[in-house]
Amino acid sequence: MAYVITQACLDVKERACVSVCPVDCIYEGDESDRMLFIHPEQCINCGACEMECPHFAIYSEEDVPEKLRAFVTIQRLFFEEPAKAREELNRLYPRSSCGVL
Ligand code: SF4
Ligand code: SF4
Repeated sequence: MAYVITQACLDVKERACVSVCPVDCIYEGDESDRMLFIHPEQCINCGACEMECPHFAIYSEEDVPEKLRAFVTIQRLFFEEPAKAREELNRLYPRSSCGVL
């Protein structure tokens, strides 16, 4: 595991990180995915994405704050069982109901 995308990317997903990754290891499953994920085996730990993210969503794994540790697991799960990762993400961070009356 190297770098991890966390909560601040959720439902934002503006993709500034994607263009600076030298190994193209930041992925979006499909349009419905609520955030992007870094492939834990492909990431070469360069740190470029962390500096580029305007929302400070990216940390190296050892620096992920305690309250955001679930994203370490969800990110890995996304590349093994994406449906389960999406389910877990929606369980822990339900979609906002803003605007829905
Ligand atoms: S730049 Fe930050 S907020 Fe934008 S997609 Fe990448 S991690 Fe998410
Ligand atoms: S740390 Fe470097 S290699 Fe890893 S996802 Fe970020 S930009 Fe890509």
